[in-house]
Amino acid sequence: MSELLERTFEKGGTYFVSPQLSICPHLGHAFFTRQGGVSKGIFESLNFRYTGGDNENDIAKNYKIAAEAIGGRYEDVVRTCQLHTDTVGVVRAREGGFRQVGAPDGCDALITNVPGVVLAGFYADCQLILLYDEKNHAIGAVHAGWRGVANRILTKTIEKMGKEYGTQPKNIVAAVGPSICRRCFETDDDVKEILFEIYEDQVPDYFYKEGAKWHIDLKMLTYSSLIRLGVLPYNIDVSNRCPCCGDEELYWSHRRTRGNRGVHAGMIMLKP
Ligand SMILES: [Zn+2]
Repeated sequence: MSELLERTFEKGGTYFVSPQLSICPHLGHAFFTRQGGVSKGIFESLNFRYTGGDNENDIAKNYKIAAEAIGGRYEDVVRTCQLHTDTVGVVRAREGGFRQVGAPDGCDALITNVPGVVLAGFYADCQLILLYDEKNHAIGAVHAGWRGVANRILTKTIEKMGKEYGTQPKNIVAAVGPSICRRCFETDDDVKEILFEIYEDQVPDYFYKEGAKWHIDLKMLTYSSLIRLGVLPYNIDVSNRCPCCGDEELYWSHRRTRGNRGVHAGMIMLKP
Protein backbone atom coordinates (compact mmCIF):
# COMPACT_ATOMS: atom_id res chain seq x y z
CA MET A 1 0.00 0.00 0.00
CA SER A 2 1.79 3.11 -1.24
CA GLU A 3 1.08 6.81 -1.48
CA LEU A 4 0.38 8.26 -4.92
CA LEU A 5 3.26 9.89 -6.80
CA GLU A 6 3.29 13.50 -8.00
CA ARG A 7 3.48 14.28 -11.69
CA THR A 8 3.54 17.64 -13.51
CA PHE A 9 1.83 18.71 -16.74
CA GLU A 10 4.18 20.03 -19.42
CA LYS A 11 2.68 23.51 -18.89
CA GLY A 12 2.74 23.19 -15.11
CA GLY A 13 0.31 21.90 -12.49
CA THR A 14 0.34 18.80 -10.32
CA TYR A 15 -1.53 15.54 -10.68
CA PHE A 16 -1.06 12.12 -9.11
CA VAL A 17 -0.47 8.58 -10.29
CA SER A 18 -0.57 5.25 -8.50
CA PRO A 19 2.78 3.46 -8.27
CA GLN A 20 1.14 0.07 -8.88
CA LEU A 21 -0.96 1.20 -11.86
CA SER A 22 2.05 3.05 -13.29
CA ILE A 23 4.05 -0.13 -13.71
CA CYS A 24 1.24 -1.81 -15.72
CA PRO A 25 2.09 -1.65 -19.42
CA HIS A 26 -0.55 -0.42 -21.87
CA LEU A 27 -2.38 1.56 -19.21
CA GLY A 28 -2.87 5.30 -18.79
CA HIS A 29 -4.32 6.81 -15.63
CA ALA A 30 -4.24 9.83 -13.33
CA PHE A 31 -5.91 11.50 -10.38
CA PHE A 32 -6.06 15.19 -11.23
CA THR A 33 -5.93 18.13 -8.83
CA ARG A 34 -7.36 21.60 -9.49
CA GLN A 35 -4.12 22.64 -11.22
CA GLY A 36 -3.26 22.61 -14.91
CA GLY A 37 -6.58 23.68 -16.46
CA VAL A 38 -8.09 26.83 -17.96
CA SER A 39 -11.19 27.57 -15.81
CA LYS A 40 -11.37 30.84 -13.86
CA GLY A 41 -12.57 32.13 -10.51
CA ILE A 42 -13.80 29.55 -8.00
CA PHE A 43 -13.32 26.93 -10.73
CA GLU A 44 -9.62 27.70 -11.21
CA SER A 45 -8.38 25.79 -12.93
CA LEU A 46 -8.91 22.11 -13.85
CA ASN A 47 -12.65 21.89 -13.24
CA PHE A 48 -14.76 19.07 -14.70
CA ARG A 49 -18.13 20.04 -13.24
CA TYR A 50 -20.83 21.27 -15.63
CA THR A 51 -23.55 22.01 -13.09
CA GLY A 52 -21.78 24.69 -11.04
CA GLY A 53 -21.90 27.57 -13.55
CA ASP A 54 -18.42 27.28 -15.09
CA ASN A 55 -17.86 28.12 -18.78
CA GLU A 56 -18.56 25.03 -20.91
CA ASN A 57 -15.78 25.73 -23.41
CA ASP A 58 -13.29 25.90 -20.57
CA ILE A 59 -14.57 22.62 -19.13
CA ALA A 60 -14.20 20.95 -22.54
CA LYS A 61 -10.60 22.20 -22.74
CA ASN A 62 -9.98 20.76 -19.29
CA TYR A 63 -11.22 17.35 -20.40
CA LYS A 64 -8.92 17.53 -23.41
CA ILE A 65 -5.89 18.47 -21.27
CA ALA A 66 -6.58 15.61 -18.86
CA ALA A 67 -7.36 12.94 -21.46
CA GLU A 68 -4.21 13.79 -23.39
CA ALA A 69 -2.11 13.68 -20.21
CA ILE A 70 -2.90 9.94 -19.93
CA GLY A 71 -2.39 9.31 -23.65
CA GLY A 72 -6.07 9.51 -24.67
CA ARG A 73 -8.39 11.77 -26.66
CA TYR A 74 -11.23 14.09 -25.65
CA GLU A 75 -13.55 12.30 -28.12
CA ASP A 76 -13.11 9.02 -26.23
CA VAL A 77 -14.00 10.29 -22.76
CA VAL A 78 -16.95 8.48 -21.15
CA ARG A 79 -17.98 9.91 -17.81
CA THR A 80 -20.03 8.76 -14.88
CA CYS A 81 -23.28 10.33 -13.68
CA GLN A 82 -22.57 10.40 -9.97
CA LEU A 83 -25.64 10.32 -7.74
CA HIS A 84 -24.47 7.93 -4.98
CA THR A 85 -26.13 4.96 -6.71
CA ASP A 86 -24.80 1.40 -6.87
CA THR A 87 -25.26 1.28 -10.65
CA VAL A 88 -22.33 0.00 -12.71
CA GLY A 89 -22.28 0.92 -16.41
CA VAL A 90 -20.53 -1.17 -19.07
CA VAL A 91 -18.90 0.70 -21.97
CA ARG A 92 -18.88 -1.62 -25.00
CA ALA A 93 -17.61 0.63 -27.81
CA ARG A 94 -15.14 3.42 -28.37
CA GLU A 95 -17.43 5.11 -30.87
CA GLY A 96 -20.03 7.53 -29.57
CA GLY A 97 -17.94 10.58 -28.81
CA PHE A 98 -17.51 12.45 -25.53
CA ARG A 99 -20.44 11.31 -23.43
CA GLN A 100 -22.00 10.63 -20.07
CA VAL A 101 -23.48 7.28 -19.08
CA GLY A 102 -26.48 6.80 -16.81
CA ALA A 103 -28.24 10.17 -16.76
CA PRO A 104 -30.68 10.98 -15.26
CA ASP A 105 -30.88 8.07 -12.82
CA GLY A 106 -27.18 7.90 -12.00
CA CYS A 107 -24.32 5.54 -12.71
CA ASP A 108 -21.48 5.82 -10.21
CA ALA A 109 -19.14 3.25 -11.72
CA LEU A 110 -18.00 2.43 -15.25
CA ILE A 111 -16.13 -0.57 -16.60
CA THR A 112 -14.76 -1.43 -20.04
CA ASN A 113 -12.32 -3.66 -21.88
CA VAL A 114 -12.28 -1.48 -24.99
CA PRO A 115 -8.86 0.08 -25.69
CA GLY A 116 -8.91 3.82 -26.20
CA VAL A 117 -12.00 4.47 -24.06
CA VAL A 118 -11.14 7.00 -21.34
CA LEU A 119 -13.23 6.34 -18.23
CA ALA A 120 -13.69 9.47 -16.13
CA GLY A 121 -14.99 9.67 -12.57
CA PHE A 122 -15.04 12.58 -10.14
CA TYR A 123 -14.14 13.41 -6.58
CA ALA A 124 -13.87 16.24 -4.14
CA ASP A 125 -14.13 14.56 -0.74
CA CYS A 126 -15.53 11.27 -1.98
CA GLN A 127 -13.32 8.42 -3.05
CA LEU A 128 -12.55 7.67 -6.66
CA ILE A 129 -11.18 4.17 -7.11
CA LEU A 130 -9.45 3.11 -10.32
CA LEU A 131 -9.27 -0.60 -11.13
CA TYR A 132 -7.27 -2.67 -13.59
CA ASP A 133 -7.56 -6.40 -14.27
CA GLU A 134 -4.05 -7.10 -15.50
CA LYS A 135 -4.91 -10.60 -16.76
CA ASN A 136 -8.06 -9.90 -18.77
CA HIS A 137 -7.21 -6.28 -19.57
CA ALA A 138 -10.29 -4.56 -18.26
CA ILE A 139 -10.60 -1.34 -16.27
CA GLY A 140 -13.01 0.40 -13.95
CA ALA A 141 -13.64 3.76 -12.31
CA VAL A 142 -15.75 3.82 -9.14
CA HIS A 143 -17.12 6.79 -7.19
CA ALA A 144 -17.77 6.08 -3.51
CA GLY A 145 -18.66 8.59 -0.85
CA TRP A 146 -19.94 7.24 2.45
CA ARG A 147 -23.15 6.25 0.69
CA GLY A 148 -21.15 4.35 -1.91
CA VAL A 149 -19.18 2.65 0.86
CA ALA A 150 -22.54 1.75 2.44
CA ASN A 151 -24.08 0.42 -0.79
CA ARG A 152 -20.90 -1.55 -1.58
CA ILE A 153 -20.54 -0.17 -5.07
CA LEU A 154 -16.86 -1.17 -5.23
CA THR A 155 -17.66 -4.83 -4.52
CA LYS A 156 -20.50 -4.72 -7.05
CA THR A 157 -18.18 -3.27 -9.68
CA ILE A 158 -15.59 -6.01 -9.19
CA GLU A 159 -18.37 -8.64 -9.33
CA LYS A 160 -19.60 -7.14 -12.58
CA MET A 161 -16.07 -7.21 -14.00
CA GLY A 162 -16.09 -10.90 -13.09
CA LYS A 163 -19.28 -11.53 -15.07
CA GLU A 164 -18.26 -9.42 -18.07
CA TYR A 165 -14.55 -10.16 -18.36
CA GLY A 166 -13.80 -13.11 -16.09
CA THR A 167 -12.01 -10.82 -13.64
CA GLN A 168 -10.75 -12.42 -10.45
CA PRO A 169 -9.85 -10.18 -7.49
CA LYS A 170 -6.33 -11.64 -7.30
CA ASN A 171 -5.58 -10.07 -10.70
CA ILE A 172 -6.86 -6.61 -9.81
CA VAL A 173 -4.68 -3.59 -9.23
CA ALA A 174 -6.59 -0.86 -7.35
CA ALA A 175 -5.84 2.76 -6.50
CA VAL A 176 -7.83 5.01 -4.19
CA GLY A 177 -7.33 8.73 -4.85
CA PRO A 178 -7.20 11.65 -2.42
CA SER A 179 -10.37 11.60 -0.29
CA ILE A 180 -11.70 12.71 3.06
CA CYS A 181 -9.64 11.50 6.02
CA ARG A 182 -10.95 10.11 9.30
CA ARG A 183 -10.26 13.36 11.14
CA CYS A 184 -12.32 15.40 8.67
CA PHE A 185 -15.12 12.87 8.20
CA GLU A 186 -17.26 13.79 11.14
CA THR A 187 -20.76 12.38 11.29
CA ASP A 188 -23.76 11.58 13.44
CA ASP A 189 -25.22 8.37 14.79
CA ASP A 190 -27.41 7.72 11.73
CA VAL A 191 -24.49 7.41 9.30
CA LYS A 192 -22.44 5.50 11.86
CA GLU A 193 -25.31 3.01 12.33
CA ILE A 194 -25.61 2.34 8.59
CA LEU A 195 -21.88 1.69 8.21
CA PHE A 196 -21.66 -0.20 11.52
CA GLU A 197 -24.17 -2.72 10.28
CA ILE A 198 -22.26 -3.49 7.08
CA TYR A 199 -18.73 -3.31 8.46
CA GLU A 200 -19.44 -4.74 11.89
CA ASP A 201 -16.21 -6.74 11.92
CA GLN A 202 -14.18 -3.55 11.32
CA VAL A 203 -15.50 -1.98 14.51
CA PRO A 204 -13.78 -0.51 16.51
CA ASP A 205 -10.68 -0.27 14.34
CA TYR A 206 -12.01 2.29 11.88
CA PHE A 207 -14.72 3.99 13.96
CA TYR A 208 -14.13 6.33 16.89
CA LYS A 209 -16.06 9.00 18.75
CA GLU A 210 -14.94 12.53 19.64
CA GLY A 211 -17.47 14.49 21.68
CA ALA A 212 -20.89 13.94 20.12
CA LYS A 213 -19.48 13.11 16.68
CA TRP A 214 -18.36 9.91 15.05
CA HIS A 215 -15.27 9.69 12.89
CA ILE A 216 -15.03 6.88 10.37
CA ASP A 217 -12.03 5.86 8.31
CA LEU A 218 -13.63 5.38 4.91
CA LYS A 219 -10.25 4.79 3.25
CA MET A 220 -9.59 1.80 5.47
CA LEU A 221 -13.12 0.45 4.99
CA THR A 222 -12.41 0.49 1.25
CA TYR A 223 -9.00 -1.09 1.74
CA SER A 224 -10.40 -3.86 3.92
CA SER A 225 -13.27 -4.48 1.48
CA LEU A 226 -10.69 -5.05 -1.27
CA ILE A 227 -8.68 -7.40 0.93
CA ARG A 228 -11.78 -9.37 1.90
CA LEU A 229 -12.68 -9.76 -1.76
CA GLY A 230 -9.27 -11.24 -2.45
CA VAL A 231 -7.34 -8.32 -3.91
CA LEU A 232 -3.69 -8.68 -2.91
CA PRO A 233 -2.32 -6.08 -0.45
CA TYR A 234 0.63 -5.15 -2.67
CA ASN A 235 -1.77 -4.46 -5.55
CA ILE A 236 -3.60 -1.70 -3.64
CA ASP A 237 -2.52 1.93 -3.39
CA VAL A 238 -4.46 4.22 -1.04
CA SER A 239 -3.70 7.92 -0.90
CA ASN A 240 -3.44 9.47 2.55
CA ARG A 241 -4.06 12.87 1.01
CA CYS A 242 -7.28 14.63 2.06
CA PRO A 243 -8.92 17.44 0.03
CA CYS A 244 -10.62 18.77 3.16
CA CYS A 245 -7.52 19.40 5.32
CA GLY A 246 -5.04 19.34 2.43
CA ASP A 247 -3.51 22.13 0.36
CA GLU A 248 -6.18 24.54 -1.00
CA GLU A 249 -3.94 25.17 -4.00
CA LEU A 250 -4.44 21.54 -4.97
CA TYR A 251 -7.96 20.61 -3.88
CA TRP A 252 -11.58 21.56 -3.72
CA SER A 253 -13.40 20.17 -0.75
CA HIS A 254 -17.18 19.84 -0.61
CA ARG A 255 -17.16 20.19 3.17
CA ARG A 256 -14.78 23.15 3.23
CA THR A 257 -16.47 25.14 0.42
CA ARG A 258 -20.05 24.10 1.26
CA GLY A 259 -20.52 22.89 -2.29
CA ASN A 260 -19.45 26.12 -4.03
CA ARG A 261 -16.62 24.59 -6.00
CA GLY A 262 -15.31 22.67 -8.98
CA VAL A 263 -14.65 18.96 -9.06
CA HIS A 264 -11.55 16.84 -9.70
CA ALA A 265 -11.42 13.95 -12.12
CA GLY A 266 -9.63 10.66 -12.20
CA MET A 267 -9.21 8.91 -15.52
CA ILE A 268 -8.11 5.48 -16.71
CA MET A 269 -7.63 4.02 -20.19
CA LEU A 270 -6.30 0.89 -21.90
CA LYS A 271 -3.88 2.17 -24.49
CA PRO A 272 -5.02 1.32 -28.03
ZN1 LIG B 1 -8.68 15.63 6.31
